[in-house]
Amino acid sequence: MEPPKTVQQIADFLRRLPSVGTKSSLRLAYACLALPREDLEAFCSALERALTTIHTCPECGLLIDGDSCPICSDSTRDGSTLMVVTSAKDVLAIENSDSFRGRYFVLSGTLSPAAHRTLESTGINRLLAKVQAGGIREVICCTGADLEGETTALYIASALKETGVEVTRPAEGLPSGAVLEYADPVTLGRAIKGRTKIEEE
Ligand SMILES: [Zn+2]
Repeated sequence: MEPPKTVQQIADFLRRLPSVGTKSSLRLAYACLALPREDLEAFCSALERALTTIHTCPECGLLIDGDSCPICSDSTRDGSTLMVVTSAKDVLAIENSDSFRGRYFVLSGTLSPAAHRTLESTGINRLLAKVQAGGIREVICCTGADLEGETTALYIASALKETGVEVTRPAEGLPSGAVLEYADPVTLGRAIKGRTKIEEE
């Protein structure tokens, strides 16, 4: 027997989320519908509000839901140090490690010609233009320790070579790319504090 069409539709949406399979999507759909009506209404209106209020900060790429970005508008932060990450989630992990008081630049993923992620689509071109415009002393490439993350960091370092801006990366010991959010704050903080200059081979 098939589930009601609307339930199936909800399950189909849920299945697009990370770590949700076909069976669990249906289980979650039924679990949502079993919630008290006022909870469901609150959930729906939060999603609806998100559609109109959540946007990316044009300066750093962070997801924000108001007019001003809490990072870019904070004048106590050091605007001359720019941390480059490949996902807005990484900013949360780094902020929770309490080890960085500069600004961020969120790329849309790592450079990967095979996955059609280019200098333009990842935002690397915008990053380079921003740094070349001046006012930045150090760029920290927190782009992940896997091959694509390394390639991205090396590309940025070589593109900025002539500018005299220091390009660094966190010390070793961090999980690669997408799992930065699972790094414990102490390890993450230590890796950021112990960052090293990217030397070209
Ligand atoms: Zn911002």
